[in-house]
Amino acid sequence: MEHKKRYTRLLETARGLGTAGDMDKYLQSILTAAAELTNSESAYILDFDEAAKQLAFSVVPWFHRDALLGVKIPLDGTAEGDVYTKCRSLIIGDASADIRHVRQIDRLAKIKTKSLLAVPMIFRGVASGVFEVRNKVDNGHYTEDDVAVLEMLAGLASMAMRNEILERRLQGSTNEISELDRLKNEFIAITSHELRTPLGLILGHATFLREMLGTEYNEQLDAIIRNATRLKEIIESLSNVDNYQSGTARLRQRRVSVGRVVDDVIASFHEMAKQKGVKLKKALDKTDLLVDADGAKIAIALSNLVKNAITFTDKGGQVLVKAELASGYVKVSVIDNGVGIPARDMPRVFERFFQVESHLTRRHGGMGLGLSVAKVMIEMHGGRIWAESVEGKGSNFTFVLPLNTSPVEKTTEQPFIT
Ligand code: ADP
Repeated sequence: MEHKKRYTRLLETARGLGTAGDMDKYLQSILTAAAELTNSESAYILDFDEAAKQLAFSVVPWFHRDALLGVKIPLDGTAEGDVYTKCRSLIIGDASADIRHVRQIDRLAKIKTKSLLAVPMIFRGVASGVFEVRNKVDNGHYTEDDVAVLEMLAGLASMAMRNEILERRLQGSTNEISELDRLKNEFIAITSHELRTPLGLILGHATFLREMLGTEYNEQLDAIIRNATRLKEIIESLSNVDNYQSGTARLRQRRVSVGRVVDDVIASFHEMAKQKGVKLKKALDKTDLLVDADGAKIAIALSNLVKNAITFTDKGGQVLVKAELASGYVKVSVIDNGVGIPARDMPRVFERFFQVESHLTRRHGGMGLGLSVAKVMIEMHGGRIWAESVEGKGSNFTFVLPLNTSPVEKTTEQPFIT
């Protein structure tokens, strides 16, 4: 083959590496290119079989598939073994006179090997197999040019095979992760469901006892009721996320004034902020900020943000809740000048169970559920939530909800926090 044609053919084959969808087809096309470019009768790829410690034919031309695919060749005393162990190319000009030529191959494939060129397949400096061509046409001799061409094709083939292995491993890991995720979700769903009934009974009976018994036991019963209520909240948070993920969450949409939600939430955190010595302020747009939403759910989202802001702000600090109109959206921000969040943790703060500090060392309670619940509540409404934060300076959690533009209906009068 003339020089320019060879070059073009090589380029074509190299380009195929990036575009090939079917790896088997691509490897077959490399075999064909190898035979053509070296003027050989046929080409083969042998892989090293770790378990058998032998080489095995893994890619062969279709007409030798039945005879050769999977056939093993020992490393000792064979041409292919030599190439693999020494990691060096080898030309055999007269196979009939060379004891390293494995005659069994000729018998199985019904061929007569006269000449052979074999090169190692190397990936990151380690041999992974052997690429060989047999029988230069017209009884010619393999040249240094043939060696160079075959070495290049061997490089392409080993890269293609590596890609395939990596892709399969990646797919395997992805499947494993999604299966683990499914099991985790199923476990959470079953556990929270099973805990709900006994917990309801504990709460019911404790409340009953508190009414029946004298004030003498109030302290103990209050502790039971307080902690059981906390457990109930945790279970609610877990189910909220699950219901959303499984698509079973329901929205009770009404015309809602976001300003009122903010007022209610601020009022309910007044005491917590006061005790902590944190100033809790609000800044509301004068316009009516009306959205079609489930007010209770928006209140849960905002409460979780405000609670975090107070929790993670030191005494003397400030938390500001802002609600404003922003081109088709109502935008609510909870801005604090507290401890902030390290940049490396920012991408994960909305994940379920994620906490910046380890659960064992942190001073605050919580299970890393508040933000994931807030995210679910906002996204259920077609909104979006995000965070900006600078460690040591403070955080800004913002969500937007689509503004209602249809004619005004009755605004719900019930409080959003019960
Ligand atoms: P938790 O209820 O355990 O606090 P969240 O999902 O509400 O869980 O929050 C996850 C983590 O994000 C918190 O543990 C905290 O480390 C960090 N975080 C959330 N809000 C703030 C904030 N305003 N300032 C600093 N860190 C915050």
